[in-house]
This record gives sequence, C-alpha cells and structure tokens, in this order.
Amino acid sequence: MSKKNEILKVDELLEKVKTYIDQDEELELLRNTYLFAYEKHKGQFRKSGEEYIVHPLNVAYILTDVYADIPTLQAAIMHDVLEDCDCTKDEMESMFGHEVTVLVQGVTKLSKINFSTENDYLIEYYKKIIVGISEDVRVIIIKLADRLHNMRTLWALPEEKQKIKAKESMEILAPIAHHLGIHKIKSELEDLSLRYLKPEVFYDIAEKLNTSKLERDKTVLEMQEIVSKLLTEHNIAHEIKGRAKSIYSIYNKLSKGKKFSDIYDLHALRILVDTEQECYVALGIIHSKFRPLPNRFKDYVAMPKPNMYQSLHTTVFGLDGYLFEIQIRTYQMDEIAENGIASHWAYKENRDAKANMQSTTEQKLQFFKSIMDLSSDKLSSEEFVNSVKDEVLNDNIYVFTPKGDIIELAKGSTPIDFAYKVHTKVGETMVGAIVNNSIVSLDYELQNNDIVKINTNKTSRPSKEWIQIAKTTHTKNKIRSYFTKNEREIYIERGRESLEKELRKRKLAFAEFLSDSNVSEICRELKLKNIEEVYQNIGNGKHAASTVIHIITKEEQQKPKIARVGNQNTDANADIVVSGIDQVKVNLAQCCNPVFGDDIIGYITMGNGISVHRSNCHNLASLEDRNVLVSWNQNINKRYLTYLILQTKDKTDHMLDIIQKTSILDIPVDSIHTIGSSSGIVYEMRVYVRNLEHLNKMLLELKKQTYVEKVERIQR
Ligand code: MN
Repeated sequence: MSKKNEILKVDELLEKVKTYIDQDEELELLRNTYLFAYEKHKGQFRKSGEEYIVHPLNVAYILTDVYADIPTLQAAIMHDVLEDCDCTKDEMESMFGHEVTVLVQGVTKLSKINFSTENDYLIEYYKKIIVGISEDVRVIIIKLADRLHNMRTLWALPEEKQKIKAKESMEILAPIAHHLGIHKIKSELEDLSLRYLKPEVFYDIAEKLNTSKLERDKTVLEMQEIVSKLLTEHNIAHEIKGRAKSIYSIYNKLSKGKKFSDIYDLHALRILVDTEQECYVALGIIHSKFRPLPNRFKDYVAMPKPNMYQSLHTTVFGLDGYLFEIQIRTYQMDEIAENGIASHWAYKENRDAKANMQSTTEQKLQFFKSIMDLSSDKLSSEEFVNSVKDEVLNDNIYVFTPKGDIIELAKGSTPIDFAYKVHTKVGETMVGAIVNNSIVSLDYELQNNDIVKINTNKTSRPSKEWIQIAKTTHTKNKIRSYFTKNEREIYIERGRESLEKELRKRKLAFAEFLSDSNVSEICRELKLKNIEEVYQNIGNGKHAASTVIHIITKEEQQKPKIARVGNQNTDANADIVVSGIDQVKVNLAQCCNPVFGDDIIGYITMGNGISVHRSNCHNLASLEDRNVLVSWNQNINKRYLTYLILQTKDKTDHMLDIIQKTSILDIPVDSIHTIGSSSGIVYEMRVYVRNLEHLNKMLLELKKQTYVEKVERIQR
C-alpha cells in the first residue's frame, strides 16, 4: 500500500501515474478528465466536509497502486458524474469516448439499487456485480476501489450507516476482491469493516499487536538476516520482507478457537526470488538449516489456488525456538498474490491487458463459473442469495483431483458435489469415491486438502437420493434437472458445456465468441435455426464443438493423419482392432487399464499411435474430437493387468486369504499392498485377468467374504 493514503490534488495523482505511464497525451487526457469532473461536482461536498471531487480523485489514486490503465483511471475520476451531476451519457461519450463511458455506466448501475427488503436488495446487488464482472471486470475493480475509499472515510457517517456499509463490505465486496485475487484491497476492506462492526475486538487486537511489536520485530529482523546470509552464500538473489498479519486474519483465527499466544508467537517472513526453480532451492536451504514443522508445507507453486495465488508455504522452528511461517515466491507470483486479476496491468509487454483480464476471469477463476452457473439455474430469489453468499463467496474448501488440480467447493460439500463440479458427465456416471486412498460413502463431508477420486461407469445413472446428499444448490439442481429434463434439453446442456470447454482450451471468451454475428454465421453454415439447436447438435454428437469453433476461427481442422486403408488390422497378436485403419501402433492406457470385454474408445495421441481407454475413463472427457472407434480382437487370448481396491471391515490382515481366493479363480496377483486404514484396512492390488467376465467373477467372489467391506476396480 502506498505510504500516503489520501491525496487532495490532481498533480499528486499525475505524479503517481507517471511512474508507470509515460505518454504525455495520456497524462493530459487524465488531467482534462479531472477538470471535467471537477466542474461537474463543483459545489458538492462530502459528509466529511471536503469538496466532493476529493473522493473520485482518491478512488483513482487507489487504482494506481495496481497500475490501472488510463480508461480505468478516467472512469474512476468520473464514476459519480452520471449519477450525481448534470451530465448525460451522450455528453460524456462525445468528450471521452465509448470505452470510458461504458465503464462509468457500469459503476453507476451498481450503485443505483432500489430495495424494499434486504433480500431484494442483495439479489439486485449480486446480479449487478455478476453482470459487471461478465461484461468488463474493470467495472468491479473500480467499484472495489470506490468502496475502499468510502470505508476509509466511513467515520464521517452516522453509526447506523457505518454498520450497514461495513457489513456489506465484509460479506460481499471483500469476498469478491478475494476471488479476483486482489489481496491488497481485500485485506484493507476486511480490517476497516471489522473496525466498525466489532470495534472492541478490533482495538483489542490492535493494542496487543502493538505492545509485542518491538520484540517481535527484533526476532523477525534477526531471522531475516540469518536467512538472507544463507541464501547469499548459495548465490540466490533475493529480497526478504517481514510481513504483518492483518487484524482481521488474527480475529478470524481467534474466532476459530485458536489462542492469542499461538497466533502471536507465529512470526512471518516472505522471500522473493527471481525464478520458480530458485523457490524450491531456497526452500531446501531453509529446511536443511531449520527443522520444518510436519504437515505444514504447501506447494501452491505447482498447484496454484483457484484465484491464481502461487507461493511455497512452510513453517519452521526458527530463531530462539519461535515458529516462523515462511512464504517463498517469485516477484511475478508476488505481484499476482497481491493484485490478482489486476496484475495484468503491471506487465509492460502485455499489449491487451483489458482483453486478457476478461479472459483470465472467465477461464481461470472458478468462482466466476460457479456464479454464472447459479445465475442460469432457475432459483428463487432467496435460494439465489443464499447460494451466492454461502456456497460461492464465503467459507470454501479446497480439495485436489488425483492429478493435483485444486477444486474449490462450498464447505460441507460431498463427493457428489465434487464430481458435478469436475464435469456434469462425471457426476451423472459416478459410482463411488475414493478420498485419500480410502473408499468413502457419498455423504462424506470433504475436508480441506482431501485428494478425491471419482469412479465412474458409463452405464451408471444418478440416483434421486443424491439430491438430499449433495450440499450445493447448483449440484442439487443439476441432479433434479437430470430427472426432469427431456433428452433434448440434456443434449443442449451437454453441448453448451462442451463448447465452453473447447473455447476455454483455446483461450477464447465465451461471450465474445457468441456474438450475434458469429452465431448467425454458425447457424448458416450448419443449417440450423438458433444457438440452442447448435448446442443440441454438439450434445448429441452430430457436430464436434471444435467444428463449430472452426467455422469462426477458420483454423485448420485437426484431422487424424492416419491413412485410411480399407482392410482392418488383422495382426493376430494385436489386442485391438481399429476400424478402417491398418498398421497402427496401439497401446492400452495405463490410467484405466482396459481388459478384454470392456467398452473401449481409442484416442489418437500425438505421435504415439492410438491409446485405448475404457469408455468411461475420465481422462477421455476432454479429448472428444480425437477419439476413434476401436474394438477387441476376438481371436486373442491374453491376460490383462488391472487395479483393484479392497477395503476390509476390521483391522485383521487378510492379505493371504485374498491371494488364495483369487488364485483359485486362476487370477495371479501381481502385487498387493496396504495403502491405508480407517475402520478397516485398504489394499491396492494389481491382478492379471483374462477378460471382463473373469474380473467380475473375482469381484463377486471377494464380495462374498465376510471380512470384505468393499471391493472395486479403480482407475489410476
Ligand atoms: Mn463513489
């Protein structure tokens, strides 16, 4: 945060802007915008007694902290002009152009909300925020800065109004800032809100922080020197900052039952280095000198948080036995950690920051998708408000897919919510879930950092009970709609989803792609009536999503470059027959390990022939347009490797008995080992079977054993 929080003159703003924008015309334009707004606001005063223009001036000033572009700064300076002054949209547009005017209109719409009940108000507010984010995320960034300045000057308002604004900031605006990754603004909004909502708590924590500050600072400084010396010895260029914990974050931990002294004794350092590799090297150096606390290491570099945050986190026993919470990240990661979506502005080489910001919002920020999903669900007003508040903005947990992707879910979510969040198709065909290597029931409440694997079966269908078990409104709705929708609608939904997914893969923004002119071109080309029909035809497999995209982008279609020869692959030793293709290398996929008799689909790899997956393998979901039809060679007589998980009811070791039971069925066990235990023991087994029937026979036999709780085939 800048040293000086409040400015009174436009020259101070221009000085600051000059530090990152050097074109004179742009600065001149900004000054003219200011003069225009100054004239318009003339004679208006704020509750604090200052001239009104000081407010928009400071909103712009806050935005310079994130290196906002000129149109954003102009819009910030004029953000109250359309609403509070004698100025029409046309006048503004003729003076400053379309882009700026649209931004100002966006901010104006957000503040113009009528309400009869609190609920109505919230619905309107959320919906407008959603519209704002989806049209131009800069509108929301301006709104956040506007609110931040209003919170800084909140003392001027009567107490009742203070509480209302503070509550709204805490419940709506700070979470939005968090999900957009704008930590700087989020953190200050939270502290300011707490100060007005719970002044006793706020000042109590502030005072305690103050009294121990000197001693803490001294320890942190000493530790900082030692670590810095260590890194220098290893030739790692770096910067180290002590970092202050926000009052709100301490309050939050206290309200979760932690003791003040525990939080307090925790000292914090942040190390900045140049490259990702150096992050890990620095971590190694620190761990070799200071013993790390078990289970506290987090690698958000390899696995960024859903709001793009990246950093290594560790806690070590540092100087004098004090615990030190250390964050290690590159300068670029630090920029993103502080400014999130707004960090696009910081990069000089970033030609089109505006478009990149919008596409990052749509593609990378999971909360954006969740919120869009909710707004398209047919919800009652109350349901909508509660879902946005409880399931999207607040109280989230983060869990991992087996590949290490982080998925953000509402607290209390179950494996069903997880499956639907990954993909509707995964949800609709799920048969079971494995969390941290143990089979769990579908009503298991997922915890932070759980690794969740969903087992699917193509022929399986959702069950009505799931509606009760699922946590989030969106999941419940998806399940309900499965049962109420007719086929056409299911196809439309699937088609829309796969088009969205393909667009994301190509980094194209959905709304932009579906402009009126593009839609009519697609319809004309495919001879369809409207976008719904386009979705339907993607959903039922008639057209690939990529084909639809190619109509607009005109890029070359990726056709499998394999010669199509009439006769089939008749190699007697081949497991697989690929229809219409001869002499092609075929591999059985290592993830789902198909066995003879499984429903299978081929996938054309880049340069390594065709890999054959089970048709319900979730690795296939995103690869639809490179699939080919394959079938088993009926003449073959081989054994196939497959993986099982078996969970027992008690803690007795039944390994020998399991091996014996499978041997009787002529199924060799390649390996078996314990991978975990909860109420019973969980074994993972690799076995060789002749075919699907053979495998099912074994599963049945094992299920009959009294000590077996569950046994399932798994994908890896
Ligand atoms: Mn304002």
